[in-house]
Amino acid sequence: ARLGEPLLDISGLSLRFGGVKAVDKMNLDVKRGEIHALVGPNGAGKSTMLNCICGYYRPWEGSILMDGQQIVGRRPDQVAQLGVARVFQRIELFRRMTVLENILVGRHRFMKGGVLSSGLFWGAGYRQESAHQQKVEEVIEFLNLQHVRKAPVGSLSYGLQKRVEIGRALAAEPQLLLLDEPVAGMNLEEKEDVARYLLDIREEVGLTIVLVEHEMDVVMDISDRVTVMSFGCRIASGTPDVVRTDPEVIRSYLGA
Ligand code: ADP
Ligand code: MG
Repeated sequence: ARLGEPLLDISGLSLRFGGVKAVDKMNLDVKRGEIHALVGPNGAGKSTMLNCICGYYRPWEGSILMDGQQIVGRRPDQVAQLGVARVFQRIELFRRMTVLENILVGRHRFMKGGVLSSGLFWGAGYRQESAHQQKVEEVIEFLNLQHVRKAPVGSLSYGLQKRVEIGRALAAEPQLLLLDEPVAGMNLEEKEDVARYLLDIREEVGLTIVLVEHEMDVVMDISDRVTVMSFGCRIASGTPDVVRTDPEVIRSYLGA
């Protein structure tokens, strides 16, 4: 019923690095339940936007409202508590730990003192912690990772590792999932896999997704709306079809 209401409302956001305006009075609105792609040339400020949303960077001005609550000024762990989860561009998993253990790390925000001090992590109370275990198993099943659940992540293909990262983010039961170039460096089959899982995540889990992506085929296929950035600013926002034919977008991005 709340589908289509605004979930993320960013206005007038700016951040400078030295003399570089990485993000310059940027506006972005993301509706609940949509897949929203953030695209634009290299250096446009897309990753910086994600870093601001996560609380990794503090913008100098502007506002980021998540479900009506101000994110600016909160630490990354506090932003996570508001229901924001992120999948990084580079794989950031524990390579020697199993798929199961890596996904369990996503439950961190629900554990007092964190997953490492919970005992749960070291096997001590794993069986008893059925709520966490059940959620992890659910995620493993949803992403079809049953066959590798006990495998060390470092032994898996890049495509599977990315899927484990998505699983870790899902285990945090976020409202908003942020992904930075999730299909970069993948072969066609792996790209199609990720695209399909993202659609399933929106449909079945009901998450809102913001993704930064260069692969325009994937963006146009799966996004409900697209925002185009150039030099830190928004130059267009709308459905894929509208954005694709926008003269300013063609001039500064697609035509390049
Ligand atoms: P995109 O993800 O769109 O390629 P980024 O957000 O990574 O762009 O970068 C936007 C601009 O900000 C670029 O000019 C980049 O060099 C600069 N930038 C990003 N992060 C930093 C940082 N931590 N320190 C200095 N400059 C940065
Ligand atoms: Mg980037």
